[in-house]
Amino acid sequence: MSEVLVLVDHADGRVRPPALELLTLARRLGEPSAVVLGASDGVDGIAGQLRRYGAAKVYAADGAAFADHPVVPQVDALTRIAETAGAAAVLVTSSPQGREVAARVALRLGSGLITDAVDVRVGEAGPVAVQSVFAASFEITSRICHGIPVIAVKPNAATAEPVCADAVAGPVERVAVGPPDPATVATVVSRTVRPATDRPELSEAAIVVAGGRGVGGADGFGVIEELADALGAAVGASRAAVDAGWYPHAHQIGQTGRTVSPQLYLASGISGAIQHLAGMRTSKTVVAVNKDPQAPIFDVADFGVVGDLLEVLPRLTEETRRR
Ligand code: FAD
Repeated sequence: MSEVLVLVDHADGRVRPPALELLTLARRLGEPSAVVLGASDGVDGIAGQLRRYGAAKVYAADGAAFADHPVVPQVDALTRIAETAGAAAVLVTSSPQGREVAARVALRLGSGLITDAVDVRVGEAGPVAVQSVFAASFEITSRICHGIPVIAVKPNAATAEPVCADAVAGPVERVAVGPPDPATVATVVSRTVRPATDRPELSEAAIVVAGGRGVGGADGFGVIEELADALGAAVGASRAAVDAGWYPHAHQIGQTGRTVSPQLYLASGISGAIQHLAGMRTSKTVVAVNKDPQAPIFDVADFGVVGDLLEVLPRLTEETRRR
């Protein structure tokens, strides 16, 4: 069976959820192989978990280059592994860095790139990818006709499913990567550590609780955060709330903000403008809380509550905590 490479997102010695989703999807296309790059904190603990999610092989490359230079060392290593393995496809997470790596790898391989895929499957002539466009009004199914297809898949596009109960021990294939070409490489000059939070990363979160202008002010986001914490969710915001200075721009969902595809998206005090829908319409289940029964968000919601969010959300939080 052909190898399908999955570039593994990891941090602090832990595999991030999108990598396990990619391995689950890769199993549909062939035999998954995990590629772990720059895991200075050790690949062995990570490798067992990757095998549990179906990785038949685990490749690893490490060294100072991965810490000092973003992107290019990953591109060098992933391209080399893809060529040597004669891979059937390369899957990466559709994050800003993932897309950059994917684009450069596709160029080096002389193939093509599909970004922001929400599904992959085997078509008649090889792997095909599905993209959701125009605020999820249309789906495009496409395939790369030349070379090794490189596909960047959105986090939460699939549910990660293990193939066995426990981590699986086994060898790791070490790949040597030389220093990157100084003419093409960017160098890390400083790092900013974001304040620690227990909430999940917005684009990877399984549940997002989002607030809009209906929240009424920065203080109103307190009820959003309380519900998010009770559910183990990330917090999102509409542009109206962000423009008003009630919540940071990093949390804006929509055309000019972030795109999320969680299992559950809870929109509170958000009218449902097309530009907002562009960032969340591929969510699996949408719940809307709005005091206006005519609000357009109810057109895309699976469940709706007509009411004042300042009354509804605290009750939801209380009930969630009680269970
Ligand atoms: P509103 O449209 O004002 O809706 C507030 C809602 O809250 C109403 O439906 C109201 O009934 C309800 N409400 C009020 N009080 C309560 C209460 N107590 N309880 C329950 N419900 C209540 N928007 C984005 O979100 N993301 C983007 O990325 C984005 N990009 C844009 C790009 C462009 C080029 C343009 C032109 C616009 C963009 N917008 C974006 C703005 C977008 O058009 C809307 O203006 C914005 O989404 C509205 O935000 P909102 O739903 O929070 O506010």
